[in-house]
Amino acid sequence: MDLSEIIEISRLYGAGTDFAIAGGGNTSVKDSGSMFIKASGVSLRTIGPEGFVELSRPAVRQILSRSYSADPFTREAEIKADLMAARVSPDTAGRPSVEASLHESIEYRYVVHTHSWAVNALLCSRTAREEAAKLFGAEALFLGYTDPGYSLAKGLEAALRGYRAEHHRDPKVVLMQNHGLVVSSDSAREIQVLTEEVVNRINRRFHAPLPAGDLPLPEAARVLLPALRMMLSGPEGLKTAALRADPLVSHFLLPENREKVSLPFTPDDIVYCKSAPLFLDFTGDTEALLTALPGHLERYTTRWGYAPKIILIGGVGMAAVEDSKRSVETCLDVFTNLMKISYQSESFGGPHFLDEAAIHFIDTWEVENYRRAVAKKSDRKRLEGRTAIVTGAAQGFGKGIAEGLFREGANVVIADVNEQAGRSLEAGMNAAGAANGALFAAADVADPVSLDGLALATAAAFGGLDILISNAGVLRAGSLEEMSAESFDFVTRVNYTGYFLCVKHLSPIMKVQHRFRPGAYTDIIQINSKSGLQGSNKNFAYAGGKFGGVGLTQSFALELVEHAIKVNAICPGNFFEGPLWSDPKSGLFVQYLNAGKVPGARTIDDVRRFYESKVPMGRGCRVEDVLRAILYIVEQVYETGQALPVTGGQVMLA
Ligand SMILES: [Zn+2]
Repeated sequence: MDLSEIIEISRLYGAGTDFAIAGGGNTSVKDSGSMFIKASGVSLRTIGPEGFVELSRPAVRQILSRSYSADPFTREAEIKADLMAARVSPDTAGRPSVEASLHESIEYRYVVHTHSWAVNALLCSRTAREEAAKLFGAEALFLGYTDPGYSLAKGLEAALRGYRAEHHRDPKVVLMQNHGLVVSSDSAREIQVLTEEVVNRINRRFHAPLPAGDLPLPEAARVLLPALRMMLSGPEGLKTAALRADPLVSHFLLPENREKVSLPFTPDDIVYCKSAPLFLDFTGDTEALLTALPGHLERYTTRWGYAPKIILIGGVGMAAVEDSKRSVETCLDVFTNLMKISYQSESFGGPHFLDEAAIHFIDTWEVENYRRAVAKKSDRKRLEGRTAIVTGAAQGFGKGIAEGLFREGANVVIADVNEQAGRSLEAGMNAAGAANGALFAAADVADPVSLDGLALATAAAFGGLDILISNAGVLRAGSLEEMSAESFDFVTRVNYTGYFLCVKHLSPIMKVQHRFRPGAYTDIIQINSKSGLQGSNKNFAYAGGKFGGVGLTQSFALELVEHAIKVNAICPGNFFEGPLWSDPKSGLFVQYLNAGKVPGARTIDDVRRFYESKVPMGRGCRVEDVLRAILYIVEQVYETGQALPVTGGQVMLA
């Protein structure tokens, strides 16, 4: 069967968050014998041919007429087994969506089921049924709320029979209360036309546009997010947290509006955000809230049987805590949709939540839990769950370190003054769809205000800081005759003072984390130099600052050890492969050749060999050598205040 049209339309509705989030929504195409349906847990946004499972239609039809256990959970397990058995080729990897029998009962070739928030604003309102009748008449079939899975398929089948008897055809639009939209047709093009028409008709009834615009990050996030993240991280490892603060969120943080987002509208809300958010009052007294926080969390957990995923903090914003950056963003996207639905449901008499029985059913529903597990599944990597800031990360050595830490599973903040290169690196790292995330933050290590912003941005985006790599540095070499006071000050300000400022402004996050999770170590690592261990001819501004860096490292280590912050420096040898040495026009090899600094050297290679021969291990230092050193320092828990040479034996400690 040709899947190109269903793939195209699936991706169309999977893009953005208006119609589907994460694994939500599903699509199918069928002929008389078989049906290709989206596999469970696959995202519509990126779906390809392998994201569909081929099912035998007669086998799926049998599911609708077979009798199953009266216990809903046993029944769903039995149906799951029957759906697996309905696959045309049993060695297909994917599991068919639990909504497959719903797709089977509609006769049209293409079936597209989405969780459009705009449509749900109508379907999750108090007057959904009456308003749907007014807006669509016989063009749409309205289905009252039914538990998802088998009950929904049976409910739809019965409703379709009634509709067919009256109208002698299948409805092309099905509106499922507190759930979503199903649009079906023999033409993929018509699905788009119909969907647009449905959404437009509902949009025109909205009482006001959604509150929109940007808000500055709230100051309290720098303390509250790390505290929440630590309290909600279990023994299995560190979680990631993030904060969203915008006018829509602010609207629902007001005491009079909280009630309107206090329960779920749809099964997806429960799958991704659990049944209810935790509301916290904040009067501006951070310490008072921190003291009260454990009690709030305990009461929530006692009431619901699990920890909260969405925390709404009055005057601050919406926080989410999850296993990875990707899961956090999904959680925030789903709850943002819930807020949009609630806001626009006012156009139709106000919000109508799922009732207690429906919530309980979903909460314990194994079939949906599978989706959650698939959406979150990833192999545990060495730095998974940790967040690192790398200063000077937009290019060169810093870029290599940032990429290396990201590959090991860390969330990475690319802190740099070079916005263009930083943003492009951020986009490249995030494009691969990994569970961890990268963030560019404009930051100048010599500017305290910009470092304060970096700390806040990091806390808001990832909920904390576990590894600070102080890497930003500059080099201006020169003899005593050549070196101006300005150049000396510039090099010292970035390489020496910059390290102090980074530790001053970023270590407070680590201290908060230690307060709420005393067993967890964090790391500050200065990328120093072999010139921090031995003098460097006509390069004293650089070497002096780096020697000073070792002094700072030892002193910070002593001061911060009570907060379980390890402070160490890595002293790499010369990075011959980098542009500083190897640039064919302005690199040091060319400069030294032209200056006749290496006696008898005739070519760049002669100069390079001269410098390589000074290294006992015969080559320059590489990014991967430094990455190995970083991993060693992070994983060990019995060393602090050290300056670790990574020089191929060129510098040996006494
Ligand atoms: Zn659905």
